[in-house]
Amino acid sequence: MTTASDPLVELLRSLVNTFGISGHESRVATIFEDNLKNLCEISADKLGCSIARSQGSSNTPKIMVTAHMDEIGFFVKEVTKEGFIKFLPIGGWWGHIALGMEVVVYSRFGEFPGIVGSTPPHILEPDKRKNVIPLNEMYIDVGGTYDFDIIEKMGIRPGDPIVPVGEFKTMGNPNLFMGKAWDDRVGVAELIQIMRKVAKIAHSSTVFGVGTVQEEVGLRGARSSVFQIKPDIAFALDVTIAKDTPGTTRGAVGDRLGDGAAVLVYDSTMIPNQKLLEFVVKVAEEEDIPFYLTSLTGGYDTGNIHMEFGGIPSIVIATPARYIHSNTGIVHRKDIESVVRLLVSVIERLNRKQVRMFSK
Ligand SMILES: [Zn+2]
Repeated sequence: MTTASDPLVELLRSLVNTFGISGHESRVATIFEDNLKNLCEISADKLGCSIARSQGSSNTPKIMVTAHMDEIGFFVKEVTKEGFIKFLPIGGWWGHIALGMEVVVYSRFGEFPGIVGSTPPHILEPDKRKNVIPLNEMYIDVGGTYDFDIIEKMGIRPGDPIVPVGEFKTMGNPNLFMGKAWDDRVGVAELIQIMRKVAKIAHSSTVFGVGTVQEEVGLRGARSSVFQIKPDIAFALDVTIAKDTPGTTRGAVGDRLGDGAAVLVYDSTMIPNQKLLEFVVKVAEEEDIPFYLTSLTGGYDTGNIHMEFGGIPSIVIATPARYIHSNTGIVHRKDIESVVRLLVSVIERLNRKQVRMFSK
């Protein structure tokens, strides 16, 4: 049952309610580091990725597990003469979702609430009403008026980050959680839990849990941190699309909330190492961990990891989420638990010899 003192709920709440669009991940990094500093050695790369290291009985293999700390959002492009904010997207947004959304603008003077405004339908041309309004025709209203200058009074200037409001909530179905930024705060929460467990179990490897930055704008932190760590094997924890909502179609197995850990057999940036894929499936089956195989048109951190240093066996383990890349999504407790169990079981079984086998 979910109660106020449920540690998973509290961890998810703290991560989801924190702001951190690409390039502005430091608040999320602080939560990541605070949760692990007593158990792991903490370091960072120069792009802002947080690295939690847990050494087992051997220096190698070096296992890299990533979850990206950034979320999608917007930034201020310019302030109009009338005091409205024109904005640019960070990550993939669709006009239908952005319109009317409540946001917070972070300036050097503080945090200011606003809404994504648009021309009221009453005064739109009839054929324009049928179309999706492009983001560049929208604006954000933070309360500027002819006698209140938002540049002067709020310090708003180009580059200020803007984030959707989507507060964490446990739903009526107590296994379901809603909130913004499950992509990828659910992965960050899983990574924290995995690293806590790994620090307490016997393992013949060194595990690097990496909170990466700037994934949503091109998997950039994955590239900087892979050079810092030089891993022998890599896993990305991220989200995939739950296909159990109206308008989606799925196959006979998996892709629903609660179906378990989603093991990616394909994404637009990587085809996983096939021996590693077999290994992960075997571990899940032997440990009786709910999982399913799926694919996604889109990319993950491993897209920028697996091609470095002559090739690094890599795979994505994802959590299904409803309504990703919108202001509020939904995830299932059981899937989070399955991902954590699967990764810990995989890490327990990895050693130098096993990892060498993946590249033979
Ligand atoms: Zn993601």
